[in-house]
Amino acid sequence: MRTPLVAGNWKMHGSREQLGQLLGEVIAGVGPDTHVEVLVCPAFVYLQAAAGMVSGSPVRLGAQNVCDKPEGAYTGEIAPGMLKDIGCDFVLVGHSERRAIYGESDTLVAAKFEAARAAGLVPVLCVGETLAERDAGQTEAVVARQLGALLDVAGAAALAQAVLAYEPVWAIGTGRTASPGQAQDVHEFIRRSVAAKDAKIADSLRILYGGSVKPGNAAEIFSMPDVDGGLIGGASLKGEDFLAIINAA
Ligand code: PEP
Repeated sequence: MRTPLVAGNWKMHGSREQLGQLLGEVIAGVGPDTHVEVLVCPAFVYLQAAAGMVSGSPVRLGAQNVCDKPEGAYTGEIAPGMLKDIGCDFVLVGHSERRAIYGESDTLVAAKFEAARAAGLVPVLCVGETLAERDAGQTEAVVARQLGALLDVAGAAALAQAVLAYEPVWAIGTGRTASPGQAQDVHEFIRRSVAAKDAKIADSLRILYGGSVKPGNAAEIFSMPDVDGGLIGGASLKGEDFLAIINAA
């Protein structure tokens, strides 16, 4: 049985006050006996304050990005151990905005994944195709390449303490969601690919769907057998909507 996970990617939005209020709403709305794991990922500068707020609550904390090196002369970067040190448990790696806007390669993403794991963080590896790639029938090839870069470096065993997120780029922040069937097809493909290396790890691996999930479409997407929760951008910035999505899981 895989525990559903619903994660909020708050990106570069909000002020200290707004995010404090949002986090307060989320903490108050997530009961202590929730069967869904809830994760919030605020911007780096708010992580420490957020760590104080989530302490003692079931809400877990994650960062949106991390350096691939454990320490050293990397001006402007944040080491995985630093995130762990201030109370983060998770970190997103390879979000499509990092790949597309900041040029992060599959190799760099795999290195970040491994650095995060070495520091005791749970990496959430994001994969997904662009619209042009989907239209060209390359969805599985793209996802296989992104996943393969990690499996080559780390092996399937690395996924025992990790989460995957399938986020079709064309569905992120666009209001255009993959249909439940489209999501299931790719999730099933990912699980099958991992199972070819290690069936037990594949069976326990949580694969989240991300891309314009809203209160109105969450339940249907989450009902798919290989969808184990969601990575939520825009809708996670409204407490009421985020809580509705959590309840849908
Ligand atoms: C995301 O940024 O990971 C995301 C899924 O965004 P949205 O829910 O806004 O599409």
